[in-house]
Amino acid sequence: NEEALRCIGCGAIIQTTDKEKSGYTPDSALKKGLEKDEVYCQRCFRLRHYNEIQDVNLTDDDFLKLLNELGTKDALIINVIDIFDFNGSMIPGLHRFVGNNPVLLVGNKVDLLPKSLKRGKMTQWLRERAFEEGLRPQDVILTSAVKPKEMEDLLAIIENHRKGRDVFVVGVTNVGKSTLINQIINLTAGVEDLITTSQFPGTTLDRIEIPLEDGKFLIDTPGIIHRHQMAHVLGAKDLKLIAPKKEIKPMVYQLNEGQTLFFGGVARFDYLKGERRSFTCFTSNDLKIHRTKLEKADELYQKQVGKLLQPPREDEVDSFPELVRFEFTAKEKADIVFAGLGWVTINEPGAIVAGWAPKGVDVIIRKSLI
Ligand code: GDP
Repeated sequence: NEEALRCIGCGAIIQTTDKEKSGYTPDSALKKGLEKDEVYCQRCFRLRHYNEIQDVNLTDDDFLKLLNELGTKDALIINVIDIFDFNGSMIPGLHRFVGNNPVLLVGNKVDLLPKSLKRGKMTQWLRERAFEEGLRPQDVILTSAVKPKEMEDLLAIIENHRKGRDVFVVGVTNVGKSTLINQIINLTAGVEDLITTSQFPGTTLDRIEIPLEDGKFLIDTPGIIHRHQMAHVLGAKDLKLIAPKKEIKPMVYQLNEGQTLFFGGVARFDYLKGERRSFTCFTSNDLKIHRTKLEKADELYQKQVGKLLQPPREDEVDSFPELVRFEFTAKEKADIVFAGLGWVTINEPGAIVAGWAPKGVDVIIRKSLI
């Protein structure tokens, strides 16, 4: 009999049960809001008061509707991905959804990769990978959402490609889209100018519109969790530990066949067959790498996961998924990628290796980035 209470910011129906869904408001905040006759959902509250955008996770169904809408617009589409987790951050089938609209592929978190890497080479690499996925971006841009100067440059490039159109920013969670949008808000508009009232038709998703100079908008769309990311398996604390925060210092290991590397207790790399050779590990500097003999690796893991091999922490071991094994033969210089964690570069072709990751997390082989 009661009419649903709506957020006066975005119009989402207020609910106090699911933090992950739109309209969430903590009980205490709801009471205060009711007294003042202005109820905001937590997301809009934060946006208003801290100039901070929160992630809202959505169902596949809503995300599909959102994607379907992209094709009906005359707009520039910005697809933000995490270059540290390319495979985990591509949106499957994006090229089918965008219709004839141009796409800018923005590879974020470039600050994490060693400074010695050539940007031109990496851009080319990204373009090739995008083509393999069927995406034909008009431009590929490397950036770092945590660097204001990079964001200024990005805005200028967007303005160049926009040609008087609206801009839609899309990306899966954890690629740094909120960080990027917040920087853009800081550069272009005050929080009070933001419009958060409209929704994507047929969905429960809020959109945030940042006004541009010519009356058009830059529109932030909610992200979706990619199923095969580490983010799906690990808790927030562990994710912080394994996700690189600073420029990665690659670690080189000379291995003989029959040797194994453990990455904390979250991943494992076995060198199965080949001559003595070097492997380069690109993972968070905080994640300890432990070298051992392949024949002893199973036993070591059983005994030491949660102890010597962390994360997971000891109290999380019971609920931590088992590691699942994938075998690969490297025919060229290749990377074995652990989705969301990093990768191991096999520097010369002809090695047979195995990569292990928690059940549900992808391990793949790809042409070497570096
Ligand atoms: P979203 O889920 O796509 O909105 O991603 P967030 O903006 O919440 O960022 C996810 C994580 O990546 C956070 O820990 C950010 O601090 C971090 N992050 C975002 N952009 C960058 C970047 O350019 N460089 C680095 N090193 N970290 C970033």
